[in-house]
Amino acid sequence: MTRKVPFVALDRQYNEMRVEINNSVQRVLESGSYVLGPEVDEFEKALAEICASPYCLTVANGTDALVIAMKVLGIGAGDEVIVPTNSFIASAGSVVQTGATPVFCDVLDDFNIDANDAEKRITANTKAIMPVHLTGRPVDMPAVKAMAQKYDLFVIEDAAQAIGASLNGEKVGSMGDLAAFSLHPLKNLFIMGDGGFITMKCPFIYEKIKKIRNHGLIDRNTCTFWGMNSRLDTIHCAIGLEKVKFFDDITARFKKVARMYKEGLAEVVGVPEEPEGMSAVYHNYVIKCERRNELSEFLSMNGVETKMHYPVLLHRQPAAIGLCDGKGDFPIAEKLNALQLSLPIFPEITEQEVKYVIKKITSFYKNS
Ligand SMILES: *Cc1c(COP(=O)(O)O)cnc(C)c1O
Repeated sequence: MTRKVPFVALDRQYNEMRVEINNSVQRVLESGSYVLGPEVDEFEKALAEICASPYCLTVANGTDALVIAMKVLGIGAGDEVIVPTNSFIASAGSVVQTGATPVFCDVLDDFNIDANDAEKRITANTKAIMPVHLTGRPVDMPAVKAMAQKYDLFVIEDAAQAIGASLNGEKVGSMGDLAAFSLHPLKNLFIMGDGGFITMKCPFIYEKIKKIRNHGLIDRNTCTFWGMNSRLDTIHCAIGLEKVKFFDDITARFKKVARMYKEGLAEVVGVPEEPEGMSAVYHNYVIKCERRNELSEFLSMNGVETKMHYPVLLHRQPAAIGLCDGKGDFPIAEKLNALQLSLPIFPEITEQEVKYVIKKITSFYKNS
């Protein structure tokens, strides 16, 4: 029997926190306050602190967080938002939901948005740029912000994968005009279902988003503009409040696994390096390797599950045909697409499991 190393195992975290989570759920069930209960505000305060942001509001999911972040800035039909082609669907889908058009751009060798390439794609209609801190690695925000300032663009961070990461002492989520996060079960900090939140600096934007997520209501019966129903359930906020108590430990465990992979694999495959001043949180651990498909097949036969983030670049998605005919000039993203492989990483993975993955990858390259 071969050992099995799963890509993720969410039940392990529940088992570690079973008592705390069960108690928090029961408390909300007994309180009868299921929507916008007191835990919502408490959870938002805890998240704001983690992100070193003055304001935070929870919403129904990370995609809504992006949509609302753009809507509150007035982005909509006729506008363009620059999005890296190497990201999750929602980075582009959220732009389409506002009525605006995503314009794809290339990435750098670290998989994150290339501000120089983004600059070449600016038109008279460009309103914003969306740096995605992919895999939990902070984008070169000084470069993005300098470019955005030059053309008077909004900066909306897609921070879904990067809660807790920082660059030069600044937390992800505190660097753009607004930032969107996800609490989906596959993210570093997660609840037991869909969830998301937005961080922001401006008190007026905070007040406006509070209304947008609640139908545009300013009181029980008065709607001054059409909003959405995008609230995070009290029960999920109560679970989230238990989880944030363990947030530093969760992050430290992701980083420890990354350190083990780096030490074990740096001589066999390309591993992520953190430049001075960067603290990445390794939502995914992506190596660059030759004979990627063969390696992935070999690992699968040896019980190690791997994935790709993402196998299909956004400009190549069938849904993007109307935007760019599946074409466009994205040489770095295309090159990385053929080399990337995501290894199992989650806080509860054991040292033995990580060592097993390292051993198998090393043997693949040594024996061929
Ligand atoms: C997960 C994710 C989202 C969307 O979050 P949901 O909560 O699933 O809607 C957006 N962008 C990126 C980069 C993500 O990884």
